[in-house]
Amino acid sequence: MAIFNALLLLAQAAVYFAVMMALLRARRVVGIGVFMCALGVMHFLETYLASVFYIELPFGIVSPGSTVLFSGKLLMFLLLYIREDALVARQPIYGLLIGNFLIVALVMILRNHETIVVTGGRNPDIAFVDEMGLLMVWGTLLLFIDAIAIIVLYERIGKWVGGNLALRFLICGALVLTFDQAGFFLALHYVSGAPWHVFIGGWVAKMVATVVYTGLLVAYLKYFDNEDSWLTNRPFRDVFQELTFRERYQNLLEASIRDHLTGILDRSQYDEKGPGILARNLKENLPLSLLVIDIDHFKLINDRYGHQAGDEVLKLIARLLTENQRAGDHLYRVGGEEFVLMCERLPVEGAISMADRLRKMVERFSKVYLPEKVTISIGLSSAPEDGRTLEALFKRADLRLYEAKKGGRNQVCGPSRSA
Ligand code: GH3
Ligand code: MG
Ligand code: MG
Repeated sequence: MAIFNALLLLAQAAVYFAVMMALLRARRVVGIGVFMCALGVMHFLETYLASVFYIELPFGIVSPGSTVLFSGKLLMFLLLYIREDALVARQPIYGLLIGNFLIVALVMILRNHETIVVTGGRNPDIAFVDEMGLLMVWGTLLLFIDAIAIIVLYERIGKWVGGNLALRFLICGALVLTFDQAGFFLALHYVSGAPWHVFIGGWVAKMVATVVYTGLLVAYLKYFDNEDSWLTNRPFRDVFQELTFRERYQNLLEASIRDHLTGILDRSQYDEKGPGILARNLKENLPLSLLVIDIDHFKLINDRYGHQAGDEVLKLIARLLTENQRAGDHLYRVGGEEFVLMCERLPVEGAISMADRLRKMVERFSKVYLPEKVTISIGLSSAPEDGRTLEALFKRADLRLYEAKKGGRNQVCGPSRSA
């Protein structure tokens, strides 16, 4: 019997999940209101079941209301948040909070009626609010906290578990539902003296529900979730890399300040962040060096091997420069084949030897990875000797770069040689 009950619960979870996910998926066509109303209406059944409808499972007594519907609802809040954003997710969260209080308020008025019986044997029983009123208010507040907590938690643990959706769901579901079970049981225990095994049974059921729903979700993402077409073959790794709206936005933001070809910060970032970095070092009396790096005869490479090969050269050099940054170095692509490296706490002598190291490295690596040797020339300047503004430093370094080119390329030109 207990096994049969468990199977029935699984069937409920599957039906609930399938319909709600279909509504969520169709939101662009039918509107998000359909999903939200359905979610709200389920709340009625959930509350009713949780107050009177209990069944026996192998590990204890549970209510389908709190196992299937309540756990499912929290999951739906989270999915809504992931698919849309906080602005949309908070609508049903606030809606349910206000709606629940409205129910209690209306019942408080309703119960003052003198009622008459019109259908035999069915007496209105509003008096249950006397017992359940406090529980309803408490449960409503708990739900409100749960819904916000599960979203906040999901964001927070993203730092540690990355985009691994299944793991994030499991952790969030387990923690929030444990909190909820404890919170609700305390009130139940206080109001109606519910015994401890009710807590344990309900808790186990909610943990199982978390696992079942996560499984359903992974299956859904794997087989159905393509906003354009059904049943596309999504790589499995992709399924676990579901990003929230905010994360996608941040990625976009991050990408927008980077140069698309090389992935390093672009000119706008140099203009925006550079002056502040310099000012900070000057204020703390720390030296700062600026390297202007330009690829030699790059036009020839393009002409000889094609633009695409030129792009590969750019990528390789950008990668070499990136991988050899120290903490406190800032690399920007400021022009077609021109880079600026700002080095905090690096005085002129250090800058010259570093620039020369980079120059040799490019020469050496290009011989290995590219069809022919590619070299760079570097002009450098240092604050405060060469100036106290970014413009002054850049101008000096650029003049020295010109000298390096004039002097035969594949060389570094600093203050000692240009003086
Ligand atoms: P120099 O040694 O004097 O620096 O000679 P150069 O040929 O490197 O200098 P020039 O400024 O004349 O040419 C730079 C070339 O870089 C011209 C342009 O077509 C090419 N370039 C700029 N951006 C890109 C890019 O994103 N990809 C490719 N493949 N080429 C680019
Ligand atoms: Mg060049
Ligand atoms: Mg150039």
